[in-house]
Amino acid sequence: MQRITILGATGSIGASTLDVLARHPEQYSVYALTAHGRVEELADACRRFKPARAVVGTPEAAQRLAQLLAGLPTVVEHGEQALCDVASCLEVDTVMAAIVGAAGLAPALAAARAGKKILLANKEALVMSGQLFMDAVRENRATLLPIDSEHNAIFQSLPQGFASEYARDPQAAGVAKILLTASGGPFLMRAVETLEAVTPDEACKHPNWVMGRKISVDSATMMNKGLEVIEAHWLFGAPADLIEVVIHPQSVIHSMVSYVDGSVLAQLGNPDMRTPIAHALAFPERIASGVPQLDLTQMAALQFYQPDFGRFPCLALAFDALRAGGTAPALLNAANEVAVQSFLDREIGFRDIDRVIARVMDAVPHGPAPSIEAVLAQDARARESARGFIAQLRR
Ligand code: NAD
Ligand code: MG
Repeated sequence: MQRITILGATGSIGASTLDVLARHPEQYSVYALTAHGRVEELADACRRFKPARAVVGTPEAAQRLAQLLAGLPTVVEHGEQALCDVASCLEVDTVMAAIVGAAGLAPALAAARAGKKILLANKEALVMSGQLFMDAVRENRATLLPIDSEHNAIFQSLPQGFASEYARDPQAAGVAKILLTASGGPFLMRAVETLEAVTPDEACKHPNWVMGRKISVDSATMMNKGLEVIEAHWLFGAPADLIEVVIHPQSVIHSMVSYVDGSVLAQLGNPDMRTPIAHALAFPERIASGVPQLDLTQMAALQFYQPDFGRFPCLALAFDALRAGGTAPALLNAANEVAVQSFLDREIGFRDIDRVIARVMDAVPHGPAPSIEAVLAQDARARESARGFIAQLRR
């Protein structure tokens, strides 16, 4: 029996994870569920899965959840320390890290330091502190399995055992390129000059995936792919030049690995996050996920294009941050989180997102990232700087 904590249980990934777990009650038990706000939804999940512990963001939310769960054995807690504890305590084997944004870093890192099996959806944690996170995984013999569909596909297309060997070297394994596919999001074909005026709802209407609002906006700007390039760098030890982004609007191929002998290995499937979740949960075995089998005969043509960096400046900003190294990706991530939230709150326009990030990257100096404290300090500076630029734009 694998005992599992789901960080971010009320989100899109959290719900898909619960769906897969419910199909295999004899193999998995839920130890803890966490959520920030949506207390009613968390209460529903607690009634269904009966975790030992549940964690929410505030004392008020905890009080409300405790009332809703009166009579159940679930212990209700709140705050970051409790999140870290349910991610690292002895009773847990596996942690699904599915909190969105920088808020997920501390608990994901706690799981790494405790040597857990970590199913990583929260790409922002790795973007912010890639070296420190990977060091913690290695030093504590944690297991890190990618949930992001592209990275899960790359993992499946690499030689078996590649990612579990700590001295990873894709070139030594004969890898010529990691081909990271991208749908291009809802604005792939839209006239560039009309992008200034798009609304949050338009930006969140992804053609192939149903996801949380932050990652949906990231997909529309292609910052999501930029964050994924950085994520791939850390997960697979791949330099920036080994990673190529390929636009593939159908999202049937979830990414590929091209080898020096001319072979290209790919993972295909219907676009449904339950596939990578089930893969990582059961790895190295396979379990049913509830995702219908791919019917190749029903598929229209598969298309592939080079990305247009002029249409998607966020993608170029992310490559720049990866090449700059140190705290630059943490600055990029923090500026993006603030800008996206401000766009969702209708304070700035869609194209202001990349403008704010570019200005923060110019204004806030980056340097080495020797500790989590240093990374968090740069994260705070970038957020403050982004808020300043947003205030200027609104004037
Ligand atoms: P979501 O917005 O649907 O859910 C986010 C979850 O995090 C919720 O449970 C919420 O309660 C919790 N949360 C939010 N802020 C928090 C805070 N400050 N403290 C503690 N908990 C907090 O997001 P999602 O789409 O499920 O994405 C989650 C993560 O997975 C993101 O990092 C995203 O990039 C990544 N991801 C998502 C998908 C997808 O298909 N949804 C695919 C690949 C990667
Ligand atoms: Mg992805």
